[in-house]
Amino acid sequence: MFAGHIGAGLALGSGARRLNVGWFVLAALWLDVVLWALVLFGVESARIPDDFAVTHQAAFDFPWSHGLLAGIAWSLVAGGFAALIVGAVADRRRIAGLIAAAVFSHWLLDALVHAPELPLAGDASPRVGLGLWSHMGIALTVEAAVLVVGLGIYLRGAALSRGRRIALVLTALFTLVLTVLGMTLAPPPPSIRSMASTSLEAIAIVCILIGALARPPAQGHAEDRPTAA
Ligand SMILES: [Zn+2]
Repeated sequence: MFAGHIGAGLALGSGARRLNVGWFVLAALWLDVVLWALVLFGVESARIPDDFAVTHQAAFDFPWSHGLLAGIAWSLVAGGFAALIVGAVADRRRIAGLIAAAVFSHWLLDALVHAPELPLAGDASPRVGLGLWSHMGIALTVEAAVLVVGLGIYLRGAALSRGRRIALVLTALFTLVLTVLGMTLAPPPPSIRSMASTSLEAIAIVCILIGALARPPAQGHAEDRPTAA
């Protein structure tokens, strides 16, 4: 899942506009950043099963990034980090809470679509996952709905120029197209390492792009003047 996490980040980011929504999108994708970094370092593992061309699902062993306990821990760490970087502002707790919620939303959405492979704690603990990816049409419809609703909630009160709104909508659509292609037509990746690198690059590009588009407009630039307050 990629686009759905972005939708969750956008929706939660609307609750604390003091912080650039790019941070909320990064928070919503954070567990995958941890996963792919740990795969590259050989701490967690993923493999491409023989039926990948049919299922488009890798098989994961990822207790440090996608375990329930790890997800809660990463949420708390991210919330604490957010509180630190925003400083002593009135809505500091709210921002920290929303960032923590964005990180944890990743686990919840993944638990909806993944096969039962998300451990509750360590490697030996029970694994959960509702496996919606085995009904790919429904899974992608749900993911598209989360993205569209999240984007709508974010845009409703965003002080952004028309041009930036259109660019954000196009960026969101692009992530949805990437997700749909990745889960339906994409051939098996040449290796797990290349899958890890490509995923990290995609996450970095999308977070930077959304963060740049959502930045408050510079004063004096007529084309950046907001159309909604
Ligand atoms: Zn994930």
